[in-house]
Amino acid sequence: MDKLHRQSLVAYGEPLCETVAECPIPQGTEVLVRVRCCGVCHSDLHLQDGYFALGGDKRLDITKDRALPFTLGHEISGVVEAAGEVAEGAAIGRRVAVYPWIGCGRCAACRAGDENLCSQHRHLGIGVDGGFASHVLVPHPRYLIDYAPLSPDFAGPLMCSGLTAYSALKHLGSRAERAPVLLVGLGGVGMMGLAIARALFREPPLVADIDAQKRAAALAAGAAQAFDPADPHARKAVMAATGGVIAACDFVGSEKSLQFSTGVLGRGGKVVVTGLLGGNFSIAVAMIAIKAMTIEGTLTGTLAEARELVDIARSGKLATIPTHERPLREAQTALDDLRSGRIVGRTVLSA
Ligand SMILES: [Zn+2]
Ligand SMILES: [Zn+2]
Repeated sequence: MDKLHRQSLVAYGEPLCETVAECPIPQGTEVLVRVRCCGVCHSDLHLQDGYFALGGDKRLDITKDRALPFTLGHEISGVVEAAGEVAEGAAIGRRVAVYPWIGCGRCAACRAGDENLCSQHRHLGIGVDGGFASHVLVPHPRYLIDYAPLSPDFAGPLMCSGLTAYSALKHLGSRAERAPVLLVGLGGVGMMGLAIARALFREPPLVADIDAQKRAAALAAGAAQAFDPADPHARKAVMAATGGVIAACDFVGSEKSLQFSTGVLGRGGKVVVTGLLGGNFSIAVAMIAIKAMTIEGTLTGTLAEARELVDIARSGKLATIPTHERPLREAQTALDDLRSGRIVGRTVLSA
């Protein structure tokens, strides 16, 4: 059996480093997947830090949720290398994307199909070793999704940034059919959101980002109009263009982004928040009623949504987004570049 090579988190706030272990032998329903690609995600930065910033000096400590050394990485595509004796359908050599948001299977959330919301979860790369590695152990073949004819560096990121964007857009419901949606924040998730919105909705979306390069990339990818939320006239410009937005996604999740997203809503409007950048948000409570406003959070997406999204992508409806592939050993540099905000599009590590 091969050795398991990993870029491991060995201490919070410290660079990843290579660790080598024995490759696990899958038991029962388990499947061992040889990693082909694993996307790098903003949440990996929070996991490496060991906390989420909640605004002011407040932090949500997340260091208790996993044992170190730990393998990050939850946007995995690869090839089935070995399977337990009752892992049905896990044919050796099958090329698959791995749904990482795996729940306990027993709680109310899991029984409703919301494994991504399970509080006793086994999320890959979050609570259980993930894909910044040569191999990943998956508890059941039901989490494997065929992705051909897509490329592996496109299929992996569909499991987090793509799924997060897709689920957020679905949570906009029928509002998204009535007028162009507004997508705030054009990082990896936002650019996926743009591609998916182009595939799902009749009218191209409006976008907003403080980075001119990202706005230009979004316009080139088919956004109808781009706004700079840092521009003091941006709110008026959005209101003039739309008469008030009724469906928005906040892919940033900061005080400023949510102020902007809620500030441009028209009556009956809704903002779905997926971003985790941090900060505090306050609003005049009366405005919630006066504007008949909905603010809803989503966290990644369900296994069913992941399958729907891969189906949409496989049908060729989804534009690929710029993806930069680098070797697994450069995992830390990739995280550093992501943290600096220098990245346009996605980065994937190839094992
Ligand atoms: Zn992610
Ligand atoms: Zn559960």
